[in-house]
Amino acid sequence: MKKLLIIGGGFAGLSAALNAAHEIDLHGGDIAVTLVSDSPYITIRPRLYEPSPVTLREPLAPMLDATGIDFVQGMVHAIDTGSHQVDIGRTDGTTIQHAYDQLILATGSVLRQPDIPGIEKHAFNIDTFDAAMAFDDHLGNIVKATDQFGHNTFVVVGAGLTGIELATEMRTRIAIHADKETAEGAHIVLIEHSTQVGKAFGGEAQSIIMDAINADRIDVRTNAGVAEVGPNTISLSDGSTIHTATVVITTGMRASPLTEQIEGERDNLGRLIVDDMLRVASVPRVFATGDVARALVDDQEFAMMSCQHGRTMGKYAGYNASHTLMGLELRAYRQPGYVTCLDLGQSGALFTTGWDRQVESSGEEAKKRKRLINTELIYPPRGTRSEILAAMRIDEITGR
Ligand SMILES: Cc1cc2nc3c(=O)[nH]c(=O)nc-3n(C[C@H](O)[C@H](O)[C@H](O)COP(=O)(O)OP(=O)(O)OC[C@H]3O[C@@H](n4cnc5c(N)ncnc54)[C@H](O)[C@@H]3O)c2cc1C
Repeated sequence: MKKLLIIGGGFAGLSAALNAAHEIDLHGGDIAVTLVSDSPYITIRPRLYEPSPVTLREPLAPMLDATGIDFVQGMVHAIDTGSHQVDIGRTDGTTIQHAYDQLILATGSVLRQPDIPGIEKHAFNIDTFDAAMAFDDHLGNIVKATDQFGHNTFVVVGAGLTGIELATEMRTRIAIHADKETAEGAHIVLIEHSTQVGKAFGGEAQSIIMDAINADRIDVRTNAGVAEVGPNTISLSDGSTIHTATVVITTGMRASPLTEQIEGERDNLGRLIVDDMLRVASVPRVFATGDVARALVDDQEFAMMSCQHGRTMGKYAGYNASHTLMGLELRAYRQPGYVTCLDLGQSGALFTTGWDRQVESSGEEAKKRKRLINTELIYPPRGTRSEILAAMRIDEITGR
């Protein structure tokens, strides 16, 4: 029996495992599929700016058990592409080896944390389930700690998509932990080192974002670098200081450090360069998918680090890795059409289409779409074995 090993139980890794199971079923392949991940849950990362992060993960077991995919919980810390095996650190402190005939790397991304004094110790982030939980616990405590210096000022560093979503959601989250009056009285600050908020958007889209930020009375500081973060302060590079007990960093993502175990060319986000089949060029038997891979989605654009691309790329990696093992034809990854849906808190949302982000809808109409995406479209499939496998076919529409 051949061995297909997938590392990473996120959007791309799970899609890869389930698509491979579908193809193996269809063609009667003799292949064992194993998914190894450090957690038995898939974290719904795009929702981690929302209230109640405790609800924002789903167990992998119902899908893996139903489809006969083996699961190993552990942290892969070494990949030997010569002898085709990986070292997996288990929670009990032991290390086990797992051999593969084909490997799919799908370990996602991590927060790109700037090297600033005090950030590690005093700043929060919402990059992982644990980090989002820690931030939410802090929020619950600080809104009630009215004697603490800076208790009612909330600073978000980085005005990209995640920073905007978190800042515009902050009053709702404060109200949940305290009350409406506390939320209305909160000072919310959004810090951006470049000249603009949401600079990935242009023209009309950007003005919708700014209207939402202004309506929410968010104090925007552009052209502002962070010099230091303390327990109750954040100092900016212009010499000013904000008194706050809450600093959250949303400064972008870079590919998982496990990519460094694979020889090969990378882009400036640390992603491995892959060919149209999602194979890492020059390293036999290794596919990369999701946030660890730089892949073309059409003739000129590259996939973003996003669920929109990760879920579909995962399917192609599962398809091509299983087809390689079965000696069947491969299929080039293509995913034309790009959309974004940005939550703007109480101002609704913004839905754009195309790489130039043309506004398709905003306000409540876009918010309905955002809710559909966040509560249904990005969720892994549920149901019987055949329903789960059918949902993971390449041709199935995957939302965004
Ligand atoms: C706050 C936030 C908001 C976002 N908003 C959006 C959005 O609105 N739209 C959108 O499309 N995308 C959004 N994203 C990005 C999106 O979440 C990622 O692009 C997506 O999760 C990538 O999927 P993935 O499977 O490649 O990686 P992940 O979902 O990160 O999954 C990787 C998995 O691998 C595991 N892993 C990592 N290293 C190891 C190891 N060494 N050994 C074993 N297991 C390992 C991880 O624990 C994780 O389970 C957002 C991300 C964040 C953090």
